[in-house]
Amino acid sequence: MTKEQMRTLLETSVNELYAASIEEASPQELFQALAHVVKHAYADDWRQTRTNILAEQQKQTYYFSIEFLPGKMLKSNLLSLDLLTTAEEVLKEVGTSLDEVAETEKDMALGNGGLGRLTSCFMDSLASLGLPGNGNGIRYKYGLFKQKFIDGHQVELPDDWLRSGNVWEVRKESKAVPIHFGGHVYLKENEAGVLKPVYEGGFTWRAVPYDTAMVGYQNQHLNTLRLWSVEVPSEEEAKYATLESRQALENLTAVLYPDDSNETGRRTRLMQEYFFVSAGMQSIVRYYKKMNLPMEQMSEKIAIHINDTHPALCIPELMRLLVDEEGLAWEQAWATTIKVMSYTNHTIMAEALEKWPVDMIKEVLPRMYQIIEEIDRRFIEGLEKVHPCDLLNRTRIISNGQVHMANLAIIGSHSVNGVAKLHSDLLKSVVLHDFYVIYPARFNNKTNGIAQRRWLQLANRPLTKVLDNTIGESWHHQPEDLTLLKNYQEDETVLQALADAKKTNKIALAKYIDAHCGIQVDPNAIFDVQIKRLHAYKRQLLNLMHILKLYFDIKENPNAQYHPRVFIFGAKAAPSYHYAKSIIKAINETARMINHDPQINDKIKIVFLENYNVSLAERIIPAADVSEQISLASKEASGTSNMKLMLNGAVTIATLDGANIEIRDAIGDENIAIFGLTEEEVYRYYAEKNYSAYTYFENDHRLQQIMNAFIDGTIPNIEWEGKEIFDSLIKYNDEYFVLRDFDAYCEAQNRIDIAYRDTRRWQKISLMNIANAGKFTADKTVQQYADDIWQIEPLFAHVKEPNDASLTQSV
Ligand SMILES: *Cc1c(COP(=O)(O)O)cnc(C)c1O
Repeated sequence: MTKEQMRTLLETSVNELYAASIEEASPQELFQALAHVVKHAYADDWRQTRTNILAEQQKQTYYFSIEFLPGKMLKSNLLSLDLLTTAEEVLKEVGTSLDEVAETEKDMALGNGGLGRLTSCFMDSLASLGLPGNGNGIRYKYGLFKQKFIDGHQVELPDDWLRSGNVWEVRKESKAVPIHFGGHVYLKENEAGVLKPVYEGGFTWRAVPYDTAMVGYQNQHLNTLRLWSVEVPSEEEAKYATLESRQALENLTAVLYPDDSNETGRRTRLMQEYFFVSAGMQSIVRYYKKMNLPMEQMSEKIAIHINDTHPALCIPELMRLLVDEEGLAWEQAWATTIKVMSYTNHTIMAEALEKWPVDMIKEVLPRMYQIIEEIDRRFIEGLEKVHPCDLLNRTRIISNGQVHMANLAIIGSHSVNGVAKLHSDLLKSVVLHDFYVIYPARFNNKTNGIAQRRWLQLANRPLTKVLDNTIGESWHHQPEDLTLLKNYQEDETVLQALADAKKTNKIALAKYIDAHCGIQVDPNAIFDVQIKRLHAYKRQLLNLMHILKLYFDIKENPNAQYHPRVFIFGAKAAPSYHYAKSIIKAINETARMINHDPQINDKIKIVFLENYNVSLAERIIPAADVSEQISLASKEASGTSNMKLMLNGAVTIATLDGANIEIRDAIGDENIAIFGLTEEEVYRYYAEKNYSAYTYFENDHRLQQIMNAFIDGTIPNIEWEGKEIFDSLIKYNDEYFVLRDFDAYCEAQNRIDIAYRDTRRWQKISLMNIANAGKFTADKTVQQYADDIWQIEPLFAHVKEPNDASLTQSV
């Protein structure tokens, strides 16, 4: 598409949508119109991809996830279609800018954090690798809450992201499916003497899919993200005449649960899980049947991925469809199910392993419960003679009145993977050790990755330009080509160009901070960034305590050598997570205290940006000098902000946790600041039960001063929160070893300060981080899933030399 063609299409589109000329249109209207032009540009390829996959009968993956976190899509779609610069030029001509127009798009925030964002990076990579792979999830009416700070407290506001419509989605009315809840089920022999379920009572709602194109990077391959929304089936409409009952129904897909850990006891969440699972499974089976192949060969054409345990009902639901609807024998159906399903575990925190009360599942999903019971019974029966009784009791699905979703997911899948080497090892040796004894071959590792197209090409144009000029553009398709940059470690001009790009980004972020927080920060200061969900194990508190240490140090000794720093935070706390909200309040009050202290003289600034989300991450990450990855070793499964920040040239200060270990291995100890307890040391403390936080407090005068600041009024307005934080460390013995790691952390921070003051050394470290970040591309991760777990191939991989003629013929 040429510039002129795009301009003409945009004019037509503005006129049709708003009966206006391009000059009259607002940025919001231009966004809508440009999005229509983009959809026009990919429509044929989207349809063609689908037709080709069906015609070729190629195996496809369906990635089931209760969260997707794509962020804004205009620019990423333009980039994938190679229309980014064209759009920039056209909008400039019209007297506005692509940035201004793109900014009006609402973030699609249907996820909490890492898990949902990973899923969206995988969608990007699947399409960009030309792999047939689709997402399946829920179209929440409200995305993750919007965070505001009022008096330093987090306040949650609804994110009504659909209010002005969602231009990217296509409603597929004809693909709607019924979903049954509640009532009673019993089995009855039919004429052929086969047991069939008979349903009594309950209610049937309708799941309507909304499809969004996942556009591959400049390869004309488009997959589909299918999100389901609940509606009343018309014949049932009368039943839902009252406002109240209608409300209950609409609530089903209204909100995303804002907590990434434990959901026990929330009936609506359980219904959500079955809703998108059943809808997705029904639509997959319907698609498969179009191929006229025997049901038991399903695994040759379909791979289903269970992302964390929320979609684990895929297993009993496929059993239901195969046995109840398609008439397969149980054994046949079970063998097929295991071959189709695979599962990723995302956490080792015991409290986050999902369980549902038996009574609730029986009431809401009676047929699912019967099937789960039968799976459980056969699991025990099949292994009774092989494994000891206590092992089976620890691994069975139903015990103590609860259904253990991870156990269901493992028993019903052929593959179980963790998301970083350390995490996968801990699954085998600790968390899922019992299952590892039973099914050793199922366990494997797939270290997470990120989409470098969004997190570098789109988010960091200045750096992209330097890289393109230095090492060419092959890294756009092959991110591992970023290693070519290693050849320029000693190149003064390249080091300076990289530093200039960083400076440009820091100036832009400084402007944003001034506009949104009214805080002036110096782009020459070190930008030290911790952006992630607020959680005790991620230890934002450790960061805050180090800031307080610097504060007291500078007050005592104003002339000590120290490079000014801006500490930047972005983090949402789950609304019910009291402790996390207290940390937010404490950071905000400390910021107010330090930012205005004339004695500190701007040597420390603290900026807590509101409403951390994908778009904000895209602003912060390119401007970061230091990346804070300081979780207690063994607690962070992988982390992905560590990868995004590294890719943008930030230097990491980290514990040996999650993927930090692999980052260290990739760049070497001299290019990262590692500190703190190792996972072995943490587990030794657990085994020996001999950690005493008080000992550290007692013996360290500075630490006492810092901790007392929380309760003696030094930090103002945190009477309550300060006490809660103090007590967590002393009275409750510091569950996440903050005091134990404090000294080592301060020492590592000091190394960072020294390294930064040696400008040339710092620039080299930064270059090495960028050069080695290609290892953490989601393209590589997804390729490993495709090869090892799903056995899927790029479209037409088996055709020798694809050309247009052969394409049209096969269709
Ligand atoms: C990458 C990302 C995360 C994950 O951050 P971690 O530090 O890995 O927990 C969370 N939220 C958003 C918006 C992200 O982009």
